Amino acid sequence: MSCTRYKCDVTIIGSGIAGLTAAAILARNGKKVIIVEKMPRPGGTLKRFKRNSISFDVGFHATSSLGKGEILSSLWNYCGVMSDIDVIPFPEQSCDLFEFDDYEHPVRNYFSYPRFMDELLQHFPQEKGAITAYFKRIQEICTTVPFYNTALPLTPFLHSPPSSANSLVGYLEEITSNPILQAVLAAPLYLYGVPSEEASLEIHAQVVHGYCRGTYIVDGGGQAVIDSFVKTLTGLGVEILTGQTVTAINTDSGKTVGVTTASGCIVQSSDVIYTGHPSDMIAMIPESFFRPVYRKRVTGLKNSTSFFMLFGSIDNPPEPDLLDWTNLYKFRSGLNILPSSPILPLKERGMMLNCPGRRDRKDILTNKNGVILFAPAYWQDVEMFKESKMNSRPQAYKDFKEKLTEQMLEIARTNWGHICGEIKPLAVGTPLTFRDELSSPEGSAYGALHSLDQSTPSVRTRLPGLWLSGQSTLMTGVMSASLAGMVTAGEMIGLETLWEKVRSC
Ligand SMILES: Cc1cc2nc3c(=O)[nH]c(=O)nc-3n(C[C@H](O)[C@H](O)[C@H](O)COP(=O)(O)OP(=O)(O)OC[C@H]3O[C@@H](n4cnc5c(N)ncnc54)[C@H](O)[C@@H]3O)c2cc1C
Repeated sequence: MSCTRYKCDVTIIGSGIAGLTAAAILARNGKKVIIVEKMPRPGGTLKRFKRNSISFDVGFHATSSLGKGEILSSLWNYCGVMSDIDVIPFPEQSCDLFEFDDYEHPVRNYFSYPRFMDELLQHFPQEKGAITAYFKRIQEICTTVPFYNTALPLTPFLHSPPSSANSLVGYLEEITSNPILQAVLAAPLYLYGVPSEEASLEIHAQVVHGYCRGTYIVDGGGQAVIDSFVKTLTGLGVEILTGQTVTAINTDSGKTVGVTTASGCIVQSSDVIYTGHPSDMIAMIPESFFRPVYRKRVTGLKNSTSFFMLFGSIDNPPEPDLLDWTNLYKFRSGLNILPSSPILPLKERGMMLNCPGRRDRKDILTNKNGVILFAPAYWQDVEMFKESKMNSRPQAYKDFKEKLTEQMLEIARTNWGHICGEIKPLAVGTPLTFRDELSSPEGSAYGALHSLDQSTPSVRTRLPGLWLSGQSTLMTGVMSASLAGMVTAGEMIGLETLWEKVRSC
């Protein structure tokens, strides 16, 4: 076994957006940083992959807060990556288009408060009170969130975030009994993978507010973001060790002293940031460092739901204009729009279709025929294959995927054949794919559940020098995971001073 030794101030485990952000901030502030990443390429969930020359994003189809002066734009400016990032705002007419079996009119969820409110008032004129109350409440909650109201300091918010004690379902039941309106207002649950009955109004508000203020994508998708970070980090002297799985976080005299990887590499550092799923971190540390109650809480974290994803191509779609900037959804009505277990057969779970490659500028010609189908999936759907590894799955799993492919194509044909035409399948992902390719326990799409009855672990740990970051800490999504990287770096170098600099960028 080869054993290479490295030395730095801070080792970051994981090169997703949280790790890349923390690295840029710490390096800009004079720290020598090394990132250790288990996969062969950096970027975590932001990486693109290719099939038949078409590039596909897995985990970056849209984000909020990339408008000028908004927080993600300011943060990435501070990190020094914005000059290479071409932000594309979704145009005014763009929307998530929701269709329901028991309602004949499609409802357009525009990425704009006034347009979305108008649309809802046209469909549900009797529900004016409910609609007005809902949007008022969402905006009130978000005026207390510094990422949306940047004049606020960060520390009080992080120490006591807006209460997540209010049930989303309870609130929606209070304001309306219309099952279609309930489903439309609950639908963003799909964007952070929290089952309906576990969803908190306050967390939901933060997701809805972001998208209603404006929605963006980056030309070249998540890969363009990674490439820009890697270029900047290289300039700042940050090393990225890829293909290295951290198996132990090393300690001496009760403090962190670095990490060891599966291939025997040792990185020595007085601080370590872990950005993967917190439950995997527990096994890397001697048992005595954390209280049994903390170990139990972290290893028992409930996870967000997963997806079945089908990546395919289309030729000459009948309605290409509709596919350019509209994401198509077919849902069940009612509040249990995202159940907590696979009680429903696939065709009743709801499905989304989007063609993100049509929004690329540089690579539009090669990527415009790419199409992605998403259907909610659960660990129990694939648990019987859990012992299998990537590249050596049993025949039964291959048969399962083949049947899944046929079912997804059939549902898509029924729902959207008149818009997109026939879809040719190129790749299919399941919770097992996410578990193995994204290091995500139970294949959860968005890490630990940010929900009513679960608080996620704090970035500070009891082990001096060990810090947590990533989507399972602050909140999920590209913006929040990047902000989580900022918060962790800030806790190390001075949170409010950093916040002051970031928000003025
Ligand atoms: C299907 C899907 C669609 C999504 N769509 C969107 C979207 O449109 N918009 C949006 O905002 N968000 C979306 N998200 C969520 C978003 O992609 C994530 O919240 C975000 O990218 C998470 O970043 P992260 O840095 O916290 O984690 P990750 O990107 O998961 O990075 C963690 C990294 O740590 C590495 N790692 C873990 N353990 C070890 C170890 N022991 N040793 C070395 N390395 C290790 C992993 O390999 C990984 O690279 C989506 C997610 C999915 C799955």
